[in-house]
Amino acid sequence: MAQTLGPLALPKVKISPRGAARLKSGHVWVYRSDVISDDGVAPGSVIAVTDQRGKALGTALYSSSSQIAIRLISREPITDFPALLRQRIGEAIAYRENLVRDTNAYRVIFSEADFLPGLIVDRYNDIVSLQILTQAMDSDSIRQAVVSESAERLHPASIVERVDPRVRELESLPPRASGPLQGEQTATIFTMNGVQFRYDALEGQKTGAFLDQRENYAAAAQYAHGEALDVFCYQGGFALHLAPRCSQVTGVDSSRPALEVAEQNAALNRPLIERGLKEEEIEWIEANAFDLLKDYAVAGRRYDTIVLDPPAFAKTRRDLESAMRGYKELNLRALKMLRPAGIIVSCSCSYHVTHSDFLEMLSQAAIDSHRSLRLVEVRGQAKDHPTLLNVPETTYLKCVIAAVS
Ligand code: SAH
Repeated sequence: MAQTLGPLALPKVKISPRGAARLKSGHVWVYRSDVISDDGVAPGSVIAVTDQRGKALGTALYSSSSQIAIRLISREPITDFPALLRQRIGEAIAYRENLVRDTNAYRVIFSEADFLPGLIVDRYNDIVSLQILTQAMDSDSIRQAVVSESAERLHPASIVERVDPRVRELESLPPRASGPLQGEQTATIFTMNGVQFRYDALEGQKTGAFLDQRENYAAAAQYAHGEALDVFCYQGGFALHLAPRCSQVTGVDSSRPALEVAEQNAALNRPLIERGLKEEEIEWIEANAFDLLKDYAVAGRRYDTIVLDPPAFAKTRRDLESAMRGYKELNLRALKMLRPAGIIVSCSCSYHVTHSDFLEMLSQAAIDSHRSLRLVEVRGQAKDHPTLLNVPETTYLKCVIAAVS
């Protein structure tokens, strides 16, 4: 028999004073260690969160397996989660209409930062790519709501789900294959800042491209000059943006498939990049960046612009110390190789490394390399990856542009 679910009908989960204090401070997560009782709550349920005395704290999504047991979706009682989801998708799209320029590829929904924890939606021109990261978002009704709202508002040729098998394992979700949820097209070309890129929804890292660097590409291009080295270049994001301003560009990455796409991207943009380059081609080198920088330093190579955009070295807080040593080594080598008036564009996407840790590391690298650094810009992730104040985990990218003398 059909029942009307009032707010009282939601399963209740009681949390500790520490968990309650965390929610009161504006955060939206409660860790498993702060859950006092969750008797019989099904994985992925919408729940009512209460404090120890039973006072309502809001409505949340529950995971039975993640260390983040509770992700708040509202401080109010919510009875119709799919309706709220639809409303928030509409709001996330509207938010970007005012903020996102010069691109047809951007993040449409950034999980907690768009009040939709566990859901990532990216747009690459006419393809929408979605990623589901939690039990609660992994239901047919949620997928349907995301597909129908995205179709109605963004009119893509297709909507493709990208599956991260490791995330599904952590959330105790059954394996699932990546593939289209609507339409058939899985490849396209998108344009950001006037530069074109190939996109294949079923290949590549993350959801395919590093959209969070979009505004940093344009910023770096403003100051780039002379001979440029893009270290950890992936499919050429920085290298292709720098090429029109530089006489020579070399991209370095350890992934051959990424470099193959980089080369195809260079071909797509030939008229644009030929504006700057003396040689016809950008040079792509498959190598371990640490070894290559060491060899180039020994060989006395010099550059005018160096970009460092390594993968996250600190995946957990425990990795922080060794991560900082990795960043320091890379930055030290790069600083030694820069000519006077050179530009360094140094990035870190490790959440555990704060902006101030990162600047401190750069200061030490400057001292050790006997160089002076003047900050040109201290930047973060593009505005379509919003930072939600009080949820520090939504800020992760650092991009420092500095002039070296
Ligand atoms: N700058 C890129 C994103 C870089 S992501 C962009 O804007 O699109 C990090 C890259 O580092 C990945 O492409 C990965 O293949 C590469 N990588 C990881 N470890 C490496 C290593 N030791 N040496 C060289 N490249 C490495």
